Amino acid sequence: MSPPALLLRGARLLDPTLSHDGRADVLVRDGRIDRVEGSIEPRAGVHVIDLSGFLLTPGLIDIHVHLREPGQEAKETIATGTRAAAAGGFVAVCAMPNTDPVIDTPEMVRLVIERAAAAGPVRVHPIAAATVGSRGERPTHVDALAGAGAVAVSDDGRPISDEALGPVLERARAAGIPVANHCEALDLSAGGAILSGGLAKRLGVSGIPREAESDAVARDLAILARTGGRLHVCHVSTARSVELIREGKAAGLAVTAEVAPHHLALTVDEVERSGALAKMNPPLAGSEDREALRAALADGTLDCVATDHAPHTEAEKARGLGQAPFGVVGLETAFAVLYSTLVERGVLPLTTLVRRLGADAARALGLEAPVVRVGARADLAAFDLETEWTVDPARFRSLGRNTPFAGWRLRGRPVMTVAGGTVAYDGRAPEER
Ligand SMILES: [Zn+2]
Repeated sequence: MSPPALLLRGARLLDPTLSHDGRADVLVRDGRIDRVEGSIEPRAGVHVIDLSGFLLTPGLIDIHVHLREPGQEAKETIATGTRAAAAGGFVAVCAMPNTDPVIDTPEMVRLVIERAAAAGPVRVHPIAAATVGSRGERPTHVDALAGAGAVAVSDDGRPISDEALGPVLERARAAGIPVANHCEALDLSAGGAILSGGLAKRLGVSGIPREAESDAVARDLAILARTGGRLHVCHVSTARSVELIREGKAAGLAVTAEVAPHHLALTVDEVERSGALAKMNPPLAGSEDREALRAALADGTLDCVATDHAPHTEAEKARGLGQAPFGVVGLETAFAVLYSTLVERGVLPLTTLVRRLGADAARALGLEAPVVRVGARADLAAFDLETEWTVDPARFRSLGRNTPFAGWRLRGRPVMTVAGGTVAYDGRAPEER
């Protein structure tokens, strides 16, 4: 049974892929975009959705989230995580395999896809483990994992070992999917909680030097140059890593990279205010790193934004800076944080932000890019760029409340998400904020 036809009326439609920016109505029928015109009259039987005053874009895609199911359902489930995605304007997410058990077999890949299909209209593309149990030793059967629906392989949460990365890249190349690597030299980062430096010393916690990331990026690029295949660098956080990726691209390597909203918006100083709620891996870095990340996102050296949405329970995050687990949630704040900190301040054009959160993210992992074109899948998101709102984690759809953005006053609140022709989120009339 197909959902009712939808008429999205009155919005400013911005589609970077089509270089379209202007008022347009969009008619959605049978999961597809049926018409896109300046003005479409409503017909009987069509559900009219008034989006006057809002921005309408292709649906956003987040290629790096942790849904925690199976095994860690106190942190998040596929159902709550996909609802959080919808509330953030996302129509599809790529789920990392570091669940319990790890997603390292075709059966597990299919399980995630089936549970997501039952949960709602937001699509989940599993990323399977690169090595068995993500233990960094024996490569998984990448061809079988890709055949079951995995869009990439990764041991995210940990790096793929030096020994395994070459064979994994070769297997992934044969299977036609990229390797998404969490670049971290564990010998340099061991025991660290936040970026090395004055603040770590003052707070009495061990530091993580920038080289823990950039040395690993350099090593990975050298292996990529030898073996071929496609490497996607997860959550780039330092200026030196950006430089290495820029050089790798210039040398013709098949490398893509993502950056997380928290690394674009914050620096290590945030730890002073937010404590363990600003603890993530890789850690928040310095302002010169943040400037380099912003410039690299603008010029495309960093291909896209991905949230690294990493929900944890309140009890876990209450263990203090040294003991709390790494990670912050991001699905429900990503667009507004980036709109308010980058677009409103003139750092990044709005059209570039929409592209980096949509079409460019899709392309990095070889997914179909969302586009508001007749015949395309009806994946759309709408945002309120005018009204200020306050981030209140108590209202999150995610089970995770671990965000450093609580209390922030932002513009760019997601108000409507349509995934595959179905309304996945409608927040046009929020309760009193
Ligand atoms: Zn990671």
